[in-house]
Amino acid sequence: MSPIGIIKPYFAENRFKICIGLLSLILVDGLQLIVPRIIKWAVDDLTAVNVTAGALGRYAAAVAGIAVLIGVFRYVWRLCLIGTSRRVEEGLRNRLFNHLQMLSAAYFDRTRTGDLMAHATNDIQQVRMAAGMGLVALNDAVVMGAAAIGFMAYINLTLTGLVLVPMPLIAVSARFFSRRMHRRYQSVQASFADLTEAIRERLAGIRLIKAHNRQTLETARVRAASASYMGENLRLVRVTAAFFPMMLLLTNLSMALVLFFGGRMVIRFAITPGDFVAFISYLALLTWPMMALGWVTNLIQRGRASLDRVNAILETRPAIQNAADARRLEAPRGEIVFEHVAFTYPQGGTPALADIDLRIEAGSVLGIVGPPGSGKTTLLSLIPRLYDPVAGSLRVDGCDVRRLCIEQLRAAIACLPQEPFLFAGTIRENITFGDPDVSEQRLIEATRSAALLETVNGLAQGFDTVIGERGVMLSGGQKQRVALARCLLADAPILLLDDPISQVDFETGEAITQALRRLAGRRTILIASHRISALAFADRIIVLEHGRITAAGRHSRLMDLSDYYARTYRLQEIEEGRDAA
Ligand code: ADP
Ligand code: MG
Repeated sequence: MSPIGIIKPYFAENRFKICIGLLSLILVDGLQLIVPRIIKWAVDDLTAVNVTAGALGRYAAAVAGIAVLIGVFRYVWRLCLIGTSRRVEEGLRNRLFNHLQMLSAAYFDRTRTGDLMAHATNDIQQVRMAAGMGLVALNDAVVMGAAAIGFMAYINLTLTGLVLVPMPLIAVSARFFSRRMHRRYQSVQASFADLTEAIRERLAGIRLIKAHNRQTLETARVRAASASYMGENLRLVRVTAAFFPMMLLLTNLSMALVLFFGGRMVIRFAITPGDFVAFISYLALLTWPMMALGWVTNLIQRGRASLDRVNAILETRPAIQNAADARRLEAPRGEIVFEHVAFTYPQGGTPALADIDLRIEAGSVLGIVGPPGSGKTTLLSLIPRLYDPVAGSLRVDGCDVRRLCIEQLRAAIACLPQEPFLFAGTIRENITFGDPDVSEQRLIEATRSAALLETVNGLAQGFDTVIGERGVMLSGGQKQRVALARCLLADAPILLLDDPISQVDFETGEAITQALRRLAGRRTILIASHRISALAFADRIIVLEHGRITAAGRHSRLMDLSDYYARTYRLQEIEEGRDAA
């Protein structure tokens, strides 16, 4: 798609507003151009000394009336044109975010959040500026500029030619300066982003900073970021401070030319004193269109470049999306089959998974053990298609996941990620994902299964307790259980639990395991866990090492089959014995 195509719909939808806005803008320009004519008449009448107080009053009233009209129409065009540009901004931002949400996990692995934030703020702002002020400046440069020059030429052609010598310099230097200002403004923005990020990160890690007495050092870091921000601002001021004096200098130069040459024309009766005064007024009116001419080319160039970057994101196809002939997954049972599945992360060299062959019957429980980095999380993430295998096939209910409707596949799966993510809000909102239709009964049931009910009941506000950003008000284990309750509430036939009891004590772990046990038979459950004893009830356990299944079977068999399994089990038995004691 052409980048312009992205913003076209917003222009089309606001075409009435834009027409009214442009019309008002042209009216304002026209009205402004009449004022010098009235002044000319008044001055000519005055110099001829044939003016009455009544006539002067009429001139004054006309100028005042025009001033009021200019005010009204300026209000209208700002409302219409700036309003439209805000609408473009809003539409573009929503579209961008909507699109980002569709992109695959791999995209976010390789793209920095900061860059995406920059697109969402800076680039969209540039497009808005081009669509709003760009349009205004373009109109003023063309309509107002041409008309002012026309009126001046009507008064005297030679004089117009003379003053137009320095005028284009305004356009050229406006372009030069606005470029430079923009570049420095970008540095200011970037430096401000660094500063806010530095402060945000330190506030997020405030507990760590305090515990390690790092305050002085961290203050110094923030102070350095703050100094650099001020430095960038001063660099910007150096350009902006030179800009307006430069513009004034050039306008005044033209003014000097008019004064000298125009004045002599008045003496020679080539033009009237009224023409002379009007000419000076037109000259003043011409300054802005000349500046606009220089500015608008930059605005449009930048808007165009930003639009191209936004477009590049919008054109990024999700690596994982529905096949054209995607099959529907009706009444999923939850059978999962891996056949020679291999996976390598796009940027990672060694395969994270190799030759995985696995059949998980519907309603059965599979335990996954293995040292850190052996591929447990990766294996689980292939099932809801966060990533696709690079080789082999993965089937759910007999159908390759790549041929299933993604939304239905994911609806059939509830995941407990290894690092539970909580949103700022209440416990209830976090467990129900903000769904107000969840009954109290189901909420309590899921919370009990996650061994969290007692904790919640112990809180003064119960389910309505606000848990703070990312759940800071909760302990690691409590966070994990909130996430587990969310997962159990989903009522999906497939449960993927990535180390569900990694942060809870032995007893809570037992309670959660009991609850999972009760679900066995009704749901297909995959549990990755570093604590082997928690998996003893699984129908089957696999041992992953370096991305390969090195042993599989029931607990008792694995004690004989796998060195890793037997060794880890004995070690943990000793630890748990000690904990229990
Ligand atoms: P486990 O869950 O068993 O600890 P993982 O599945 O998280 O192991 O990781 C398996 C391997 O894949 C590791 O070598 C790890 O470094 C790598 N890995 C995990 N996530 C990514 C990622 N997003 N990008 C690149 N490599 C990754
Ligand atoms: Mg893991």
